[in-house]
Amino acid sequence: MQRFFLPPAAFAGSKVTFTDEQAHQMTRVLRLRPGDQVMALDGAGLQHTVTLETVTQGLTTGAIAGTEPAPGEPRVGITLYQALLKGDRWDYVLQKGTEAGITRFVPVIARRCIVQAEGPVRRQRWQRILTEAAEQSERGRVPTLSDPMLLADALRAAGGLRLFAYERGVTPLRAALARRRPKEVSVFVGPEGGFEREEAAAATAAGAQVISVGPRILRAETAGPALAFAILYARGDFG
Ligand code: SAH
Repeated sequence: MQRFFLPPAAFAGSKVTFTDEQAHQMTRVLRLRPGDQVMALDGAGLQHTVTLETVTQGLTTGAIAGTEPAPGEPRVGITLYQALLKGDRWDYVLQKGTEAGITRFVPVIARRCIVQAEGPVRRQRWQRILTEAAEQSERGRVPTLSDPMLLADALRAAGGLRLFAYERGVTPLRAALARRRPKEVSVFVGPEGGFEREEAAAATAAGAQVISVGPRILRAETAGPALAFAILYARGDFG
């Protein structure tokens, strides 16, 4: 069933009014008709089965036929502090990271970042990628995207179990997770050129654990989603 995240204003009692963009997709792309059902997500963890009533490009509405918690939310909150990456690598992190169960993305400015201006257009595009990935992967919430932070500030702000991924880290991820059941995990991943040694030292000084995922070097855009999969696997929430 097709899934759509909706703003709170779209719900009035048992009536749901879809956005113009969704109305367009339902009429022109999906060719839905009155009587067809879609899933409307409130973005706060609930999903409503909606029977469509009016289906036109100008107005698409329906009535809620059933409500349940969305199944796809992870048991542990994972914030990815990802050093800014060039071009579509960042898009990839958002898309795959959402599938992997990441709950929040924080763009981080690290020393080797080739930082690009983050205009409103780019942010809108990122928001769209997150929403589409969350709909596709049956998440109950769209992961949040925070404003960029300097690495030093991010190390101070991060909560829960703090893991700093570093190719030359000595603590294996497995050891850092052993016998721990944190509600929140903060994961730091470097840019294409990696973190500098001093940045890893700053992470240790800030109380984070510098961890390795083994002898293979992952590309920057692979590391965050891979870590999220591994963390959820360790918690019995993947496979
Ligand atoms: N400096 C490296 C590559 C950096 S990979 C080089 O140029 O060869 C980008 C980021 O992915 C790193 O900063 C780190 O956060 C993460 N990463 C990649 N492979 C990793 C591994 N085996 N263990 C821990 N982190 C890793």
